[in-house]
Amino acid sequence: MAKVQENRNIAIVLAGGSGSRMNSDVPKQYMKVCDKPILYYALKTFEESFIDEIILVVSEKDLQYCKTNIVDKYDFKKISKIVVGGKERYNSVYNGLQAIATDKDNQIIMQDINIFIHDGARPCVTTDILERCLETVKRTCACVAAVPVKDTIKIVDESGYAISTPDRNTLWQIQTPQVFSFEVIKNAYDNLMHLVTIEGITDDAMVVEHYSDVKVKMVEGSYDNIKVTTQGDIEIVKLYFKKKMIRN
Ligand code: C5P
Repeated sequence: MAKVQENRNIAIVLAGGSGSRMNSDVPKQYMKVCDKPILYYALKTFEESFIDEIILVVSEKDLQYCKTNIVDKYDFKKISKIVVGGKERYNSVYNGLQAIATDKDNQIIMQDINIFIHDGARPCVTTDILERCLETVKRTCACVAAVPVKDTIKIVDESGYAISTPDRNTLWQIQTPQVFSFEVIKNAYDNLMHLVTIEGITDDAMVVEHYSDVKVKMVEGSYDNIKVTTQGDIEIVKLYFKKKMIRN
């Protein structure tokens, strides 16, 4: 018999990237900040929140490392599955979604399940951001954490000359978590994955914008909720944790 799971919140935390822009042997999500791997911090925030279950997506070669040195070591109880990711970020997300869809004899009913997709390389996510996303996704079925752009942004040609300057009031910098009802995100991703060629997909909101008729709402994120991409970002994260420790 079909099993109804009401108002269940599932996180897919992505750690399947190689972090090639970091120039490091260790993928960025496993580099240490204040003695702990960067990935630990986002997992900790999800673990201590209202989230019911976490699906962790990692690359095949890091599977054992993650199980031993992160999941077991820090005793994350909400991580229900560690799934192998794919070549691109969207492949990794899809593998995470498939792990939910095929869960428990295929008997999950998709209604009332919210999926929180989060970059494991964003350690400064907070419970407040998660709560704002939850409150919004219940109304809209699709939302993303984001902040208004502070700088002027230019569209530039291949030679580096300005083509145009979009109105700054319409520009938002997109972060994660990106949060959707399971039905919306799974159907949009199914449509995407049926395409013969897939190009230029850099976040989940894009998939919903292009392959569903649901509109994606902005939710107030935080300028601190950065994605660690370069060595300099690690220093910013260290400062953030220092500031937080002083405040607490
Ligand atoms: O590469 P980028 O910075 O956009 O990656 C964002 C997040 O997605 C990171 O946490 C990374 O580990 C994850 N990712 C993934 N699988 C990939 C590529 C990226 O899980 N194939």
